[in-house]
Amino acid sequence: MSSETASLLNGKALAQKIQGELKTTVEKLQGNIGRPPGLAVIMVGDNPASAVYVRNKEKACAKVGIASFGRHLPTETPQEEVEALIHQLNADERVDGILVQLPLPPHLDTVKLLHAIAPEKDADGLHPMNLGHLIRGEEGLRSCTPWGVMRLLEEYNLDVAGKHAVVVGRSILVGKPLALMLLEKNATVSIAHSRTPDLAEITRQGDIIIAAVGKPNLITGEMVKPGAIAIDVGINRIMTEDSASKLVGDFEFNSVSQVSNYITPVPGGVGPMTVAMLLQNTVLSYQKKHFQ
Ligand code: NAP
Repeated sequence: MSSETASLLNGKALAQKIQGELKTTVEKLQGNIGRPPGLAVIMVGDNPASAVYVRNKEKACAKVGIASFGRHLPTETPQEEVEALIHQLNADERVDGILVQLPLPPHLDTVKLLHAIAPEKDADGLHPMNLGHLIRGEEGLRSCTPWGVMRLLEEYNLDVAGKHAVVVGRSILVGKPLALMLLEKNATVSIAHSRTPDLAEITRQGDIIIAAVGKPNLITGEMVKPGAIAIDVGINRIMTEDSASKLVGDFEFNSVSQVSNYITPVPGGVGPMTVAMLLQNTVLSYQKKHFQ
């Protein structure tokens, strides 16, 4: 028997497919609208991981035909200056989506900056207005990572209705909006977090288990129900025995893939889907601005 029994949910391939579809949509619309869609990614400081994410987002924009209006500001930039930039981008007709790359340097008030983004340009779907639409089950821009997870499940025809989904992690970025999206699709949802006393007891009940924590090997095979769908949102950089650096998720991949029926790899699972949904949100805002 092979060491891996679960089928891989290939987020990388699906993200490429979505980007291809978006490129076609943009090509069609651009003639009518007279300009391409625009995304502004604001980065403050020199966090190396953020720099890689921003580069990847801008490369993906270029592939699809979205113009980038990114701004890279020095670490010490004051709050008022970042806010002024957001207001300027809110008013810029060429910009359909604005994203503030997190984390920000500690002197900046992240929540205040996210609230300053015009809700209709909130490409990351983190503005309280868009989170409010989600909680009410209304149309709005959805948070990219959770939406990417839902899109991946849909692509593989993995219906969540009536299933018990266990979400580990309750951040506003991933865990909470994902739990709401699963609920919207009629899953029975449990949310576990750092104060959950017996994590394994909860995770073993999940027909779907989703980890969004940021701790390598937190979830092992014995914590997973046989036949489950296992979605790993975590991204952790670790050192291997030969001192190389490697990206892993929150699952102990080998043991979880022996027990589950489906599993997302890290990298190549949820990560690329997040970028694809960011582009999707930008194109949605672009369409909405011109056709509604
Ligand atoms: P976060 O804000 O740090 O939240 C982590 C969550 O995990 C918190 O709710 C925390 O509980 C919970 N937690 C911590 N230790 C735990 C434990 N031992 N048992 C159970 N729950 C525990 O992180 P985040 O922004 O949601 O990101 C989570 C992970 O996803 C990170 O690795 C991040 O890099 C990754 N991520 C990936 C993508 C992607 O595109 N693939 C996008 C975003 C984030 P408390 O609330 O009780 O503190």
